[in-house]
Amino acid sequence: MRARHVAPFLAAFVAASAAARCARPNVALIVLGGTIVTGNASHDVIEHGAVVVDGADIVDVGQAVDLVPRYAARETIDAGSELVLPGLINTHTHAPMVMFRGLADDVDLNDWLQKYIFPAEAKTVSPEFVRIGTSLAALEMIESGTTTFVDMYYFEEDVATAARDAGLRGVLGQTIVEFPAPDAKTPADELKRTEAFIQAFKGDPLITPAVAPHAIYTNDTPTLQAAAALARRYGVPLLTHLSETEEEVRNARAAHGMTPTAYLDSIGFLGPGTLVAHGVWMTPEDIAALRRRGVGVSHNPESNMKLASGAAPVMAYLAAGVALGLGTDGAASNNDLDMFEAMRQAAFLAKLTTSDPKAMPARTALDLATMGGARALGMERAIGSLEKGKRADLITVSMSAARQTPMYDPVSHLVYVTRGDDVRTTIVNGKVLMKERRLRTLDEDKVLADARALADKVRQALR
Ligand SMILES: [Zn+2]
Repeated sequence: MRARHVAPFLAAFVAASAAARCARPNVALIVLGGTIVTGNASHDVIEHGAVVVDGADIVDVGQAVDLVPRYAARETIDAGSELVLPGLINTHTHAPMVMFRGLADDVDLNDWLQKYIFPAEAKTVSPEFVRIGTSLAALEMIESGTTTFVDMYYFEEDVATAARDAGLRGVLGQTIVEFPAPDAKTPADELKRTEAFIQAFKGDPLITPAVAPHAIYTNDTPTLQAAAALARRYGVPLLTHLSETEEEVRNARAAHGMTPTAYLDSIGFLGPGTLVAHGVWMTPEDIAALRRRGVGVSHNPESNMKLASGAAPVMAYLAAGVALGLGTDGAASNNDLDMFEAMRQAAFLAKLTTSDPKAMPARTALDLATMGGARALGMERAIGSLEKGKRADLITVSMSAARQTPMYDPVSHLVYVTRGDDVRTTIVNGKVLMKERRLRTLDEDKVLADARALADKVRQALR
């Protein structure tokens, strides 16, 4: 009913006095007419809505009939029959690893790392590799509705530059490992370049620099403590992999007499601002410790299934009140960065492992990919939902495919039938990165051509 009344209402308003029109504040952008899945605390869904954006911020959210007459926008995006929702937050990836997509599938995590990934990285990873890989990952993320990503890799300053050029928001961790890495010979060198990276990017509106010791099995205790101290000294996030496999837990018990979580807690590593990826093999005490220390967790169902690492106890995390986000992991172990697929697999895996179809309903899966991720990052006041005063990170999603027809429940469709390819428009920090699938910040042909040319070099290096 409401739709039929929009046009007459607007027509009446346009006919209103010139004085009233002059009083309308100028804004940069209105996203108009779609169904808005706000993701706010009361999970409001607004039909025939509008999101008003100015500068980097959302300045208003509500009914189109109320908002359109109030603002003069320089650009209008007609979301028509689309859904409008907060941009998706990928809480764990290694963006440049899109260059290793499909290089080594169907092997154990340890073999995958030791026989394929680490040797391939030693031979091929360079600043150029990282820039080209990150641009390719950024293209894929923009095209599939991710607006914020959390990264752990080498030459992270080049990840940052490429992400910023693409217009994406990133929490980007410089990786620290105890063996010689592509960008440093020793952990001490890595810590130095991490500090320089933090100094170069701290305060950037899009990039949050972070410290990323890879894992407890690739760093000794003094390095882990030094990494945590560096993160706290600068007030930046601390990222690591935790309890991804049963073997990691076995080895930690043998080496330290405790679980990986208890070990990290015993050396003072865990605290607010810490985000751990995976957390698959966890005791109830481990989960309680993460909650007590205010640690966020990134759940990566697709990577965990593909590498047969196990199923993270997501319902226990949620019951304990741990800040839980969703991630894809790197494209070498997934093999894509599509957060819609991650949502769907998170829901399915939770149901399968608990033998309970009520576990992880669609709304919870969508929450993990939006507000859950924001909370896990401690960024819930800035991103994660469409609310006045937050940064304007939002996407529009087409709902017109055969597999999306009919639609009774937008949230059900977003999680159970939608794909990244259905995203039409992606906006980050108030800037339109893609409109109706046309890229504005990236030259799609060039990004793909550069990646294909670089893949030839990877092939040669691995011969
Ligand atoms: Zn990872």
